[in-house]
Amino acid sequence: MKNEDKPLRGRKQKKRTVPSACIESEKIEKAGFSSLLELAVHTPSSYIDTRLSTVLSIGEVHTFEAEVMSVSRLPNRLVAQVRTRLSDRPIEITIFHPKPYHSALFKPGLRHFLQGKIERFRSKLQVVNPQKLSKTGEIVPQYRCRLRQDVHRRIVESLVTVANLTGEGLDEMRAALIVRAHRPDEMWLKLYRRYGGVGPKTVEALKFAEALDYFRRLSGKRVRFPAIARLKGSVEPFVERLPFELTDDQKRAIEAIRTDLGGDTAARRMVVGDVGSGKTMVILASAAVAYPQKSVLMAPTSILARQLYEEAKKWLPDFIDIALVTQGREEGEVQQAHLIVGTHALLYRDLPDAPLIMVDEQHRFGTEQRKMLERLVAKNHLSSGTEEPLSKKAKPHYLQFSATPIPRTQAMLESALIDVTLIESTPFVKNVSTHIVDKSGFAALLGHIRNETEAGRQVLVVYPLVEESEHIGYRSIGESEAFWKERFEGVYVTHGKDRNKDEVLQAFAEKGRILLATTVIEVGISLPKLSTIVIVGAERMGLATLHQLRGRVSRTGLRGYCFLFTHDMQNERLKSFAQTTNGFEIARLDLKFRKSGDLLTGKMQSGKEFVWLDMAEDEEIVRSAKNTLPAAEALRPKSSQ
Ligand code: ADP
Ligand code: MG
Repeated sequence: MKNEDKPLRGRKQKKRTVPSACIESEKIEKAGFSSLLELAVHTPSSYIDTRLSTVLSIGEVHTFEAEVMSVSRLPNRLVAQVRTRLSDRPIEITIFHPKPYHSALFKPGLRHFLQGKIERFRSKLQVVNPQKLSKTGEIVPQYRCRLRQDVHRRIVESLVTVANLTGEGLDEMRAALIVRAHRPDEMWLKLYRRYGGVGPKTVEALKFAEALDYFRRLSGKRVRFPAIARLKGSVEPFVERLPFELTDDQKRAIEAIRTDLGGDTAARRMVVGDVGSGKTMVILASAAVAYPQKSVLMAPTSILARQLYEEAKKWLPDFIDIALVTQGREEGEVQQAHLIVGTHALLYRDLPDAPLIMVDEQHRFGTEQRKMLERLVAKNHLSSGTEEPLSKKAKPHYLQFSATPIPRTQAMLESALIDVTLIESTPFVKNVSTHIVDKSGFAALLGHIRNETEAGRQVLVVYPLVEESEHIGYRSIGESEAFWKERFEGVYVTHGKDRNKDEVLQAFAEKGRILLATTVIEVGISLPKLSTIVIVGAERMGLATLHQLRGRVSRTGLRGYCFLFTHDMQNERLKSFAQTTNGFEIARLDLKFRKSGDLLTGKMQSGKEFVWLDMAEDEEIVRSAKNTLPAAEALRPKSSQ
């Protein structure tokens, strides 16, 4: 027998040599999670407290030992008198629709542990349908889990410990708070019941842990490619020629990009700034840094591409050659140019290899075009150019510019996968007042429009997109056209499906007074004389759209007016929108309101949903988790990276 024992022991020992980290991650995976922190933030959904009650308080759930004194059977009911330590008087147990099991249980002389709410009924103490417990003296957490309760519980007990959590980068305080949620004591449970859930400090700790977990996991997923070339051109010749001082945010963005482009790793950066925040200057500065190497800049429409082209020619030093590529039309020497500006026509044309690719108004591109663009960026650039690429896997630097502000918290979370720069300030202090008006204010509004147009300024009236069958209580653009044309000169009309949209916009920009449009106008064409925007049925639109629309006016410091025309004067969303012009704050509000409408969960690029984190509210927590990351990463054992 002894000999047979040996190999067995040998096997056992071998098993022990498996690193404990592996066994741990196996357990975590079995429970349906991908990290210890994720397991830890999935706290119990409830607790069963089986400790014996010591004092009687009417109306509360008690756990007590009961000795059956007498039993009586009534139709559909079993009534037993039991003796307990909780009270000198007997307690009456009533079981409705008793099973044979109950009859066996409630026999005089037998003792059981029971749990149920003790109530006063007439002058008696009564418990209806109590539960029989086989064991007492514990607080048992209940999980929403894929495994059996006890199996899941054992995994949590062995892994969710203060030592393990601090090993993941959590501080001791937060670690202890989280552990307590899994293994509460009496005091904790009392507070849990009082709050109707986990207390605020613990919630903070859980949010923090969740954010930290997110950063840790995604920072490992980011793929870094070598750059085709280090770009170390100088921005000074460009900046010095500008007739204005760059804003601090512009400078900061340019500095970040300069560092990116000068490095060995292909940059992947998203620059997010409101309409009018001066992103073009950042784009041009990037092209200057790339010089004498080539850069490609893509815009979503030919109007925008042309605008960028014109601005590039105006602001960039003369030695930087610029070309324009739109469908069926090219200007400048595409093969020789240092900066090639264009629409998606760029994607269908042979281009010289460029170590820098930029996209303006990135959010306006369709999925297909984005995919093509990704391919363009992903292409391995081996050939051409005078310089050897840094490596065979080299990719161009890729900068995306977006005018769709995202909540700051989301920006921080996204920064785990891609670098993000926010431009929050605008070169001109926006002087736009926002007014919520209804029918009763329409006459005054018409007066305002007359004043503005007569002073040479322009007005945009945005109508909601309406299906013919839909009745929304607002006039459609078609129904209103005659009204405006009868009263005003220079009325132009366009809509999303209008083939001549670009021409109409161009003509309006030059000589129009009033433009009637659907939300098509989100396009970033600049209308420097536009002072007023009227948004009909404003409550039907998302805050992001409203913000884009309002951003059209007062782009050059002109006194601006935004009228939200609505039948719902008390609309909370519109009210809070009227109070701020900061795009990032509006994005946060948008998220908040949409969430309260249950339209949106905290879904991220990675498809992950958060249990605790609220992107509309938890900016500070996410920031401090992000700042903890380097320290937390240092703790991580090399093997699990
Ligand atoms: P965005 O692309 O972010 O919507 P633009 O780059 O078109 O904004 O800039 C809006 C306007 O502000 C342009 O007329 C631009 O020339 C001007 N501008 C940009 N930066 C500054 C600055 N630092 N000071 C003054 N004007 C600026
Ligand atoms: Mg722009």
